[in-house]
Amino acid sequence: MNRITSAVHSLAQTRGSFYLYDERSIFRHIDLLKETFPQARFLYSIKCNSNPHILQSVFSLGLGADAASLGEVLAAGKAGLSPDQIYYSAPGKTSEDIRRSMSEATLIADSTGELLRIQAAAEEAGKVVHAGVRINPDFSFGGGTGTSSKFGIDESQVYEFLAENPLKNVVIDGIHVHLKSQELRFDVLSEYYRNVFRLAEAFEAAAGCQLRFLNLGSGIGIPYSPTDRPLDFEALKNTAAELFDSFRASHPDTVIFIETGRFAVGKSGYYVTRVLDRKISRGKTFLILENTLNGFLRPVLARLICRYSPDLSPEGCEPLFTCRDECEILTFREEPPTERVTLAGNLCTAADVIAEDIFLPHLEPGDIIALTNAGSYAAALTPFQFSSQEPPAEFFLTAGGEILS
Ligand SMILES: *Cc1c(COP(=O)(O)O)cnc(C)c1O
Repeated sequence: MNRITSAVHSLAQTRGSFYLYDERSIFRHIDLLKETFPQARFLYSIKCNSNPHILQSVFSLGLGADAASLGEVLAAGKAGLSPDQIYYSAPGKTSEDIRRSMSEATLIADSTGELLRIQAAAEEAGKVVHAGVRINPDFSFGGGTGTSSKFGIDESQVYEFLAENPLKNVVIDGIHVHLKSQELRFDVLSEYYRNVFRLAEAFEAAAGCQLRFLNLGSGIGIPYSPTDRPLDFEALKNTAAELFDSFRASHPDTVIFIETGRFAVGKSGYYVTRVLDRKISRGKTFLILENTLNGFLRPVLARLICRYSPDLSPEGCEPLFTCRDECEILTFREEPPTERVTLAGNLCTAADVIAEDIFLPHLEPGDIIALTNAGSYAAALTPFQFSSQEPPAEFFLTAGGEILS
């Protein structure tokens, strides 16, 4: 039995449904990022999984924080990061969010209105703050022309705005771009980086400043479906090296950040639930599981989306939906699959189905099932309140083999 299987079994003695996060997987994935981009530093996108053990683990490896709310800014500070390691980027920050985070994090302004609000808050506090701006560039992730976005300031507006609105109390010396998550093609990622480096140089020329940081956003994906081909990190490293090295050489004082949420922790997570009942209705076998839609939302949502979409492979809508067959279903049984079953949950809605007509070994009430790819956007996205059931617990298996709750 490997370490995951034995941890799952020992927890399942007393728990009905729970998440288990494996620290070794987190270490492996972050090591791979560091090997691929030795010129960059990394920010962990807390919103994908804010479990305190995960934060401790990720930050212990030297990552900073990509915070999407004041709450995440404060959580990163509580986990031990200093303000210069926390980058707060989100649309719609309130003046209160700005005031309270100003000395706890580096703010990244998401609009021209927000820049003015940061100026007002800094002036009121009698401070000069260093901040970044999120830019909606003239290019798209795939290299086409830019599109309208609720995020950031259009590249075509930002220079004029900064020229016409000198901000006495705000020094803008960083830029942030993030256009897409879950990319598995190395050449598309490299081209995207090339375009962002070019944008950074144009920004410096127009704004007459040296960037203190350039945040390239996320994009690096993980294989979800068995048909997904994992990102080729060797090829990514080879194509990206020249771009990163040359930017590094001309900007020795600019920190290059890459954000990562799902890549760091997505594969580390397992969602474990147990069979509560089995029944046959008009020839169809149902296994009723504990906490499905209200335990791990994504696979239920994926099934619904695929059911209502005319496409065989509907386009992803991150972070809610990636693809059909988003996770593997493990039964920890030696026997081969022998029966066709539908996995439904114990909620009072017919929509609460994780998989329909799949082949599994014979399972009885009390047997356990684990779903993979449950480390990111899993516990964090799931509506635990629905139906007032006991929410799943979360456990963390340390690299040393200890289970923490
Ligand atoms: C959500 C988000 C991320 C994390 O994306 P992953 O695909 O989980 O790595 C990074 N940056 C921004 C701005 C985000 O909104």
